[in-house]
Amino acid sequence: MEKEEKGKLKLAVYWGAACGGCCVSVLDVHEKLLDIVAVADLVFWPIALDIKYADVQQMPDASIDVCLFNGAIRNSENELMAVLLRQKSKILVAYGSCAHMGGIPGLANFSNRDALFKRVYMDSESTENPEHITPQPKYDVKEGELEIPAFYNDVQTLRDVVCVDYYIPGCPPQSERLLEVFQAIVSGAELPSKESVVGALDKSQCDECPRKKTDNKKVKQFFRPWEIEDDGETCFLEQGVICMGPATRGGCGARCIEGNAPCRGCYGPPPDVTDPGAKMMSAIATMIDSNDEDEINAILDDIEDIAGTFYRFSLPSSILRRKMIKKQLAEVE
Ligand code: SF4
Ligand code: SF4
Repeated sequence: MEKEEKGKLKLAVYWGAACGGCCVSVLDVHEKLLDIVAVADLVFWPIALDIKYADVQQMPDASIDVCLFNGAIRNSENELMAVLLRQKSKILVAYGSCAHMGGIPGLANFSNRDALFKRVYMDSESTENPEHITPQPKYDVKEGELEIPAFYNDVQTLRDVVCVDYYIPGCPPQSERLLEVFQAIVSGAELPSKESVVGALDKSQCDECPRKKTDNKKVKQFFRPWEIEDDGETCFLEQGVICMGPATRGGCGARCIEGNAPCRGCYGPPPDVTDPGAKMMSAIATMIDSNDEDEINAILDDIEDIAGTFYRFSLPSSILRRKMIKKQLAEVE
C-alpha cells in the first residue's frame, strides 16, 4: 500500500478477548516505535490513547489504513468492534493467536457459558451468592437501564465474524515480524495475497529447530517437561516430551526451543496442515513403541490433558471447534 502523499498512514490497534500481551508486543518494538510514528498516526488504541468508540464511528469508512485486531470474539462488544473496525479499515489484520485461531481464551470452548457462570458466580470457593445472581446484558436501576456486553456461549475467531485480510500469528507475535510487515506496507511493496498468514514461515517449526533429530522416534513413555532431565540437545519428542513443532509454523525463531521449552503451537499450523491437533495425534500414534492395546493405552495415559495440549491455541478454529457438554448442561438445568 502506498502512503498517501498528503498524509501519514493511519493505524489502529484494538483488543477483543485478550490478555494484553499482543498490545505489549507492539510496544516491544522499543525505539522503532519512533520510526513508526514518523510515517504513521495511531488513530485508535484503547490501551494507550483516550479515543472513544464514538470517535471511531465518526471516522469515514476505510479511513484507517491498517488495523491490528488482537484477541478473540468472546462477547457482543468484541463482535461490534470487529464489525466497526472492518468497516473503517482498508486492511484488517488478525494479530496474534487469539484473533487468528481463538487462542488461550478459546480453551473455554471445552465448557460453555452456563457452566462457566455456574463455576465463577456460584461454586467458586471464594463466592457467596445465595441468590444465584449472574451478569445480565441489561438491568434496570432507578437511574435508567444499565447495559453490559452479552457473554457468548462460544469463543470465536476474528474470521468467524468479519473478513480478515491478513494474519500475523503468535502468542504474542514477535515484534521483529510486526516491524517487517509494517515496513513492507510503508515501502509500497506488493502485498501478499489476501487472507495470507504473514510474518511467519510456510515450513514447520521442526524445520528451523536446532535440536538433533535421529531415526529413533519410538517412545515407551511420555513425560511432562519437568519430569525428565532434558539433555538440551535432542528433539523433545524423541525424549518423550510433547512438542507441537511438527504441527506448527516456523517463523518465531524457535524462541521456546532456544529457551529449552517445547513448542506449544502458538504460530498455528503450516499451510499443509488442516488441524494441528489431528496432525499431532497422528504424529504421536506413529511414535508409540508397542503393538499391545493395553500398553498403548497406558502410554497414552501419560499425556496430560490431550485436548488442551494439542488445541492449546486453536480450538475455535479446529475441526472440533468446541466440546459438546451435555452432562454439564444437564447439571445447570
Ligand atoms: S495471542 Fe497471546 S499475547 Fe496475544 S492476546 Fe492472546 S493470549 Fe495474549
Ligand atoms: S518436535 Fe520440537 S524439538 Fe523436535 S525437532 Fe520439532 S520443534 Fe524441534
